[in-house]
Amino acid sequence: MTDKHFGVLGIGVGPANLSLAAQLYPYRDLPSVFLDRKETFGWHDGQQIPGTSLQVSMVKDLVSLADPTSQFSFLNYLHDQGRIYHFVNAQFDAVPRQEFRNYLEWASRHMKNIVFGEDVRSVDFDGVFHVRTDERVLTADNIAVGIGRKPWIPPAGQGRHTPSQFHVGEFVDKAVGLGGKRVVVVGGGQSGAEAFLDLISREGAELPSRVSWFSRRRNFLPIDDSPFTNDFYMPCYSEYFYGLERETRERINQDNLLSSDGISESTLRAIYQRTYHHRFIARSPGLIRLYPNREITGVTEAGPAWELTVVNKDRPAEPQHVQTDVIIWSTGFHTGPLELLAPLADRLEHDGAEYRVDQDYAVRWDGPGDRNIFIQNGTSAQRGLADKNLSLLAWRSQRIVDRLRGVQREQQLSSFVAWADDASEPDELRRSV
Ligand SMILES: Cc1cc2nc3c(=O)[nH]c(=O)nc-3n(C[C@H](O)[C@H](O)[C@H](O)COP(=O)(O)OP(=O)(O)OC[C@H]3O[C@@H](n4cnc5c(N)ncnc54)[C@H](O)[C@@H]3O)c2cc1C
Repeated sequence: MTDKHFGVLGIGVGPANLSLAAQLYPYRDLPSVFLDRKETFGWHDGQQIPGTSLQVSMVKDLVSLADPTSQFSFLNYLHDQGRIYHFVNAQFDAVPRQEFRNYLEWASRHMKNIVFGEDVRSVDFDGVFHVRTDERVLTADNIAVGIGRKPWIPPAGQGRHTPSQFHVGEFVDKAVGLGGKRVVVVGGGQSGAEAFLDLISREGAELPSRVSWFSRRRNFLPIDDSPFTNDFYMPCYSEYFYGLERETRERINQDNLLSSDGISESTLRAIYQRTYHHRFIARSPGLIRLYPNREITGVTEAGPAWELTVVNKDRPAEPQHVQTDVIIWSTGFHTGPLELLAPLADRLEHDGAEYRVDQDYAVRWDGPGDRNIFIQNGTSAQRGLADKNLSLLAWRSQRIVDRLRGVQREQQLSSFVAWADDASEPDELRRSV
């Protein structure tokens, strides 16, 4: 491909930038390209554990909540594949994660401006952005960074990446051949729960001899998916949140963590039932160990095995020691520093550890107003927990597209809840932009 100039250059092709690409698709006057370092499309393929499901409604796809008429909806995918009746008749409680992944891949195949196998190394600016990849330099008027979040392991496990100690993001490839071994899963969110359920569901020679599950949370706690909690995942709440002081925003995200990072009830039920089976029916009472409210403060080598130092948070002065053959860190993902923006670092504003964005997700900087660096899935401290999941994906992309086109489309009605104090007029009558 020859070097070219683009109106928009997207870095990363996960759901976030795929949504932007889908919503830019009708506007051919705004040439765009989206680059991903992976050789082919993937969506958390290391965690495509059989039986896992989406934790949000299928309507929270790339486009539907912003533009239900788009050809890139999940429903159109089903229809295009000839399976829309089967999907309805299957009566899934939630969309199988693998099927949603296949939908995303289908969308990526239908856009000609998506390029896999190209790693973006750095972005610089001299009137236009210069994007250096491992193959070439491209220029663009605007950049959309959608590189996702990085696996995170707590200090006790850092630097010990071996076949017997790994992040859950590599589960599919690495959690093999564990029959007869002692396995520890650390982390009480959905990923930890899925890994634990998979391990205790293995049959015969594939079944580990012991599977222990540790969580810092008080118990193995469910996601809060109730109606008013879901109002936190509406555009109007994101706008309200954006206007608050940083300390308040931090407290809200902490208070509401389970609305995003809790475990699906169906997963909890399956774990409980499997535990019942092993304890009372299969009579293998030693297999499963459940340890909430525990912190792993250290990991040392113990011959070919590992020894964990475990602190019960109710008895911090009496640490325990647990030996295991394998440790699976299901301790989440974090937004690391965006090294590829390093050449521009002095010109970009910060908000704590994040780049400070304006209302359209463009980083505030000292460059010209019509040259933007949009950040997707990197501003949860400014935009709330919805920033890192699928809920506001379509809306966020619409905001970016509108900014690029210099228009403001009509928004959906506000929440029933009056988040702000100025609720003098019934806000369900206002379709504010
Ligand atoms: C297992 C799992 C399940 C999830 N399930 C749900 C769910 O059910 N509901 C929900 O709301 N949220 C869910 N999430 C959270 C969130 O929706 C996903 O993490 C989502 O993938 C985030 O999309 P993204 O595009 O921001 O990042 P990613 O999907 O991580 O995509 C980023 C892309 O950028 C590429 N990239 C990175 N650096 C570069 C570079 N320098 N150059 C080129 N390319 C680069 C990567 O290869 C990657 O393809 C889940 C997360 C995980 C881990």
